[in-house]
Amino acid sequence: MTTAQPRPAIAATGLRKSYGDKPVLKGLDLNVREGTVFSLLGANGAGKTTTVKILSTLIRADSGDVRVAGHDLAHEPDAVRAAIGVTGQFSAVDNLLTGEENLLLMADLHHLPRDDARRRTGQLLEQFDLVEAGRKPAATYSGGMRRRLDLAMSLVGSPRLIFLDEPTTGLDPRSRRNMWQIVRDLVAGGVTVFLTTQYLEEADELSDRIAVLEGGRVVAEGTADELKRRIPGGHVRLRFGDHRHLDAAMRVLDQPSRDNDPLALRVPGSGSLRSLKHLIGRLDDHRIEVEELSVHTPDLDDVFLALTGKPATENEKATTR
Ligand code: ATP
Repeated sequence: MTTAQPRPAIAATGLRKSYGDKPVLKGLDLNVREGTVFSLLGANGAGKTTTVKILSTLIRADSGDVRVAGHDLAHEPDAVRAAIGVTGQFSAVDNLLTGEENLLLMADLHHLPRDDARRRTGQLLEQFDLVEAGRKPAATYSGGMRRRLDLAMSLVGSPRLIFLDEPTTGLDPRSRRNMWQIVRDLVAGGVTVFLTTQYLEEADELSDRIAVLEGGRVVAEGTADELKRRIPGGHVRLRFGDHRHLDAAMRVLDQPSRDNDPLALRVPGSGSLRSLKHLIGRLDDHRIEVEELSVHTPDLDDVFLALTGKPATENEKATTR
């Protein structure tokens, strides 16, 4: 028996885009399942915003086949636009209007009848914790409130697919967590989220699947766990009280290597209970005393470094644009 595959929310093959003679996307393939969070992870200038702009009809690709929300991007851009919401680096918030007026204006653009517009605006102000702020001009909002309003505005038309371009860049940790909860709630309500981020932690927290964009191509794709498994680097770190125990451990353990700390060693391994039991048994058999033991499993930082040759921190931006 075959089970029907759900329709992909986004299916792109061979997406290419150059600015002048500078190629930015060199044949991107993407597949995003409905009802999931898909993260496009990449350094500054990797082409994340360009991808979002293409998928959301703001600019045209040079070539490639793309279907978004079941519609052909090149031939049915209006149908795509009607099915999606976009928010991110090109904020649609009008500073002179209040939060509520911004939402009502959006409702007007979506041709919602007046009563529906009021109802939807009230719902969104409530959902995004902006009821009180909704009466004040957006110019007075904090970065976190502005992001929430921007996202609320992209939801006025009840899209089933939303694009979030670096939704938490520049936000403080609390506002960031707030935004993550909003994304989770949207997905729980059946919305598909296409997210771009430079934050590994964010991709790890939210995504069903992650694609790493580098050099105009997707260089790796999978769940956070799948990506982590592809990267060697898991080890157990042992710290000893003196050199006598360390030297003894060097002789009896499998493939030990030195650590920056002269009294510590690293032993390759996954850190599974079974391998730890084996390791501790071996140390006990030889009466080797260990002062500290810690397990290091590769994280997305290791993945990013291995795939792009750059540490993630270099890519993290401190300010909002
Ligand atoms: P960031 O994290 O810094 O926002 P990004 O991954 O979103 O980066 P893009 O904004 O898509 O990257 O830019 C990709 C490359 O294309 C960059 O080198 C950028 O300078 C260039 N680029 C983007 N827009 C234009 C444009 N309109 N004209 C010329 N070059 C552009």
